[in-house]
Amino acid sequence: MTMQRRYRRGDTGPAVAEIRSKLVLLGLLPAGAPRPTDTGGPDDLGGYADAVFDDSVDLAVRHFQQQRAMTVDGVVGPETYRHLDEARWRLGDRMLSYSAGHPTVGDDVATLQQRLLDMGFDCGRVDGILGPATELALREFQRNYGLGADGTCGPATFRALDRLARTVVGGQPHAMRESELLHRSGPSLAGKTVVIDPGHGGADAGVVAHGLTEAEVMWDLARRLEGRLSALGVRAYLTRGPAEDGIGEEERAAFANATDADLVISLHADRNDSPRAAGVACYYYGSGSDRYGRRSPTGEHFASLVQRELVARTGMVDGRTHGKAWTLLRRTRMPAVRIEMGYLTNVDDAARLASSEFRDHAAESVVVALQRLYLPPDEDVPTGMLRLPVFT
Ligand SMILES: [Zn+2]
Repeated sequence: MTMQRRYRRGDTGPAVAEIRSKLVLLGLLPAGAPRPTDTGGPDDLGGYADAVFDDSVDLAVRHFQQQRAMTVDGVVGPETYRHLDEARWRLGDRMLSYSAGHPTVGDDVATLQQRLLDMGFDCGRVDGILGPATELALREFQRNYGLGADGTCGPATFRALDRLARTVVGGQPHAMRESELLHRSGPSLAGKTVVIDPGHGGADAGVVAHGLTEAEVMWDLARRLEGRLSALGVRAYLTRGPAEDGIGEEERAAFANATDADLVISLHADRNDSPRAAGVACYYYGSGSDRYGRRSPTGEHFASLVQRELVARTGMVDGRTHGKAWTLLRRTRMPAVRIEMGYLTNVDDAARLASSEFRDHAAESVVVALQRLYLPPDEDVPTGMLRLPVFT
């Protein structure tokens, strides 16, 4: 079905039914209840033969347009319709191969591209379009893993992608397999892999205020966290060195994906033109606050645990948790949380961040939150297991 005209609030008919069903498939619109007149036959539109482009459709369309960084107008014209059509494909839903005149486009192609990139096969940028570069990378992958290098992504290639995307990355196949085994050992902190991402770095200092540099403070905090996690048997990876130039958010996400980590913790401090702005806040992947938003439930849960511990143990102002579609949060395959550890532009927060005692308490707060995340509720961290006094 191609869409010539533009549909908006108030429109009715089969095209609107089609739009509604696509939104339902994407989880942006609740499925409607079947009606007595439904025939169940191939022409049955699930009770939407008289479908209406109502307020809920308008909202869902706007939300979708926002997610895809399109013009948000609530109108379904050819472009929005094409995006709706591409979004429904998941890797494995259909065979993928290159066709010169009519390239395959969809979210499944974007996933394929991301996996190929993660494993070191250069297919160019992740754009969801199966072009010549993606085909070359796919053939290269197939050759490397003893599959027929036919450039067609079928069942055998899907299985191999699924298996290998989690293991042979980062040039440490042995270490990765070992960590994979540990993942299966049950709900315990030991054996988990955590990527710690100190924000900025090198030439990019981040916020500089009150004699402190965000990149340096976050590096120090990252090391304190890394030390505590290692002591508990957690495999911790840092995204950069002490004075290394910070890589982009996209690369940080790719790094985390390559380590197949269980969780990503990104450390930042905030700034504001008002010196009065203060407090700690945590961010997880979430595209919106309404019920149609995509979000990471584990990320949201971990963000709330970290936030609770930090506020209780440091006495900082509670800036609460928020869903955001920032690159690092969106591009990581595992739950990711970004902590904005106070405002360097606020004199009280800066004084806290300057103190090594505060940094220890902050690192301990994150560790306790991690324990609460992974331990079953009935085995939640017993009081006194760690000496963690409330810092006032
Ligand atoms: Zn920052």
